[in-house]
Amino acid sequence: MSTLEIRDLHVTVETENGTKEILRGVDLTVKSGETHAIMGPNGSGKSTLAYSIAGHPKYTITAGTVTLDGEDVLAMSVDERARAGLFLAMQYPVEVPGVTVSNFLRTAKTAVEGEAPKLRTWVKDVKEAMGNLRMDPAFAERNVNEGFSGGEKKRHEILQMELLKPKIAVLDETDSGLDVDALRIVSEGVNRAKDNTDVGVLLITHYTRILRYIKPDFVHVFVEGRVVEEGGSELADRLEAEGYDRFLAANA
Ligand code: ADP
Ligand code: MG
Ligand code: MG
Repeated sequence: MSTLEIRDLHVTVETENGTKEILRGVDLTVKSGETHAIMGPNGSGKSTLAYSIAGHPKYTITAGTVTLDGEDVLAMSVDERARAGLFLAMQYPVEVPGVTVSNFLRTAKTAVEGEAPKLRTWVKDVKEAMGNLRMDPAFAERNVNEGFSGGEKKRHEILQMELLKPKIAVLDETDSGLDVDALRIVSEGVNRAKDNTDVGVLLITHYTRILRYIKPDFVHVFVEGRVVEEGGSELADRLEAEGYDRFLAANA
């Protein structure tokens, strides 16, 4: 049983016009087996939240805490965060020139586990996970993110999550750029990870459509850098019908 706890998180970035506060007191708790959806309009700070949990150097934490099972995540290096059991799939994954998917996955697994996985079971696990995500075996020999389509990037993200078996996964806009078939396959992957490993999921999304495939236990409406309303999955249905206008007006 694991718990990611975010308390009164304030985050700034440096812009051309000076320091800008993006996160303005975020409170959130995600436990093993739970799925939380963070939903909000563009520019509300959702990706900033993901990057801040990931330890991206561009984002400065000015107040608040992030802990995983009581350990101070903000004091950890990016590698240490992964080893502690955090998985952070980014909205704009970077290219890793000259590194194949296969090598990348094995290196990541070794980093997270502290030792290299046994080759025979590892090869079998990768094959099975790729099959589940309907990925061509040749994909394993491509360079990471080089010329990947939107759908391939997302599948690669979920492939990593399935193989690394994190305690808590933060998925940012996992649905963007996916057609309906790819969306279903990727969602099945998330649901499989939930069933098999009891991972806690923080699913960040602008749109409600992925929530037809991945049922959230909790929905948090995110506006202007903070959570302004919380509820169950029925809140996502309301957002689908009404949009974010009501919350924007209430927050103005
Ligand atoms: P969302 O993911 O909800 O669309 P973001 O977290 O990407 O929102 O952005 C929130 C706000 O912070 C936006 O106004 C964006 O322009 C600004 N912002 C985010 N990251 C940076 C950055 N690195 N430099 C300057 N501004 C940024
Ligand atoms: Mg505050
Ligand atoms: Mg974003």
